[in-house]
Amino acid sequence: MYDMIVVGGGPAGMTAALYALRNGKQVLVIEKSGFGGQITHSPKVENYPGTLQMSGNEFADQMLDQILAQGAEIEFEAVVSVETAASAAAETAETAEAAAETTAAENRKTFIVRTEEGGAYEGRTVVLATGVKHRMLGLEGENELVGEGISFCAVCDGDFYSGQTVCVAGGGNSALQEAILLAQKCKEVIMLQDLPYFTGEEKLQEVLFACPNVRAYTGVKITGFEKTGDTFCGVEIEKAANSANGADPAEAADPAETTDAAGTVEKQVIPCDGLFVAIGLIPENEAFAELAALNTYGYFDSDERCLTKTPGIYVAGDCRSKEIRQLTTAAADGAVAALAACRYLNAG
Ligand SMILES: Cc1cc2nc3c(=O)[nH]c(=O)nc-3n(C[C@H](O)[C@H](O)[C@H](O)COP(=O)(O)OP(=O)(O)OC[C@H]3O[C@@H](n4cnc5c(N)ncnc54)[C@H](O)[C@@H]3O)c2cc1C
Repeated sequence: MYDMIVVGGGPAGMTAALYALRNGKQVLVIEKSGFGGQITHSPKVENYPGTLQMSGNEFADQMLDQILAQGAEIEFEAVVSVETAASAAAETAETAEAAAETTAAENRKTFIVRTEEGGAYEGRTVVLATGVKHRMLGLEGENELVGEGISFCAVCDGDFYSGQTVCVAGGGNSALQEAILLAQKCKEVIMLQDLPYFTGEEKLQEVLFACPNVRAYTGVKITGFEKTGDTFCGVEIEKAANSANGADPAEAADPAETTDAAGTVEKQVIPCDGLFVAIGLIPENEAFAELAALNTYGYFDSDERCLTKTPGIYVAGDCRSKEIRQLTTAAADGAVAALAACRYLNAG
């Protein structure tokens, strides 16, 4: 029986583990793919206080070393459900004896964390720190280019493209905000939107397209990446199937112009130094919705206190509803969630 089981070994989860361990708690962290989470895709972290410059992998390794040194137990498994021990026992209770056990479990208020690999771990509290996945374009070679030309975060990586040309894929509020930030640093920002129009707020569009170094292609889809050797150097686009025309708010060249006489759309290459993909985030929280309510976008519906509707269950990091998704905010949540869990454990 663990005092705390942390689901997700990203910055939020590992910070939660660190704080609980330093409060003398027994902690298990379960991670499904790689300790460190999203930051392992970043070649350089320069905005975490006290860290001049470090690769995302170094950052992740140091966090993992730190919690292991404090006595964390870890498992490489994918969590598929968290049940109250009472409901888990009730499902299998066939005798009076088993029913009595169910009542005892209810009183103990513990949780069973089950994994895809068949693991079942019992904990008195659970911190859900499942993070988010950035929606990808789904193109060949994309994964290998993440952090090497493809980025998801202008706040994190914008400085690396100072004075250079970047493309931004997407047309919603996130894409517009990313582009506004990039326009302040980059020589040129080229928007690539698959719909014939931008879906983000009018006000943001006004701000963005008032920048002299921004142009846009609408009604285009990205179909591939250009490389010189191993170095990213551009994107390949073609007219999107759902595009009525290649409307272009910034009066850029319309790729529809490349349509040949037979009506076949030629591909066009846009040379650039980086591509920021801002086509949405995917939280993966459905499996836990019974214990921790979700908002309409699938994020855990919780505030800075990191509490949920279930006493003993906490949420931390990018997986919860919030404005800013960064290392600092993930770590802050981890600390808040762990200390709330410690108070709960100490009171029980
Ligand atoms: C390319 C890139 C560069 C970035 N650069 C910066 C930067 O320079 N500075 C900055 O402040 N921020 C940066 N960020 C953002 C930062 O990485 C995130 O805000 C931060 O990692 C969020 O931490 P988290 O722990 O909440 O979630 P995540 O990092 O997403 O970690 C969640 C972890 O949970 C695991 N998990 C999910 N579901 C399960 C499950 N069911 N069972 C087991 N494990 C599960 C995932 O595998 C993952 O490891 C960057 C992000 C990206 C993608």
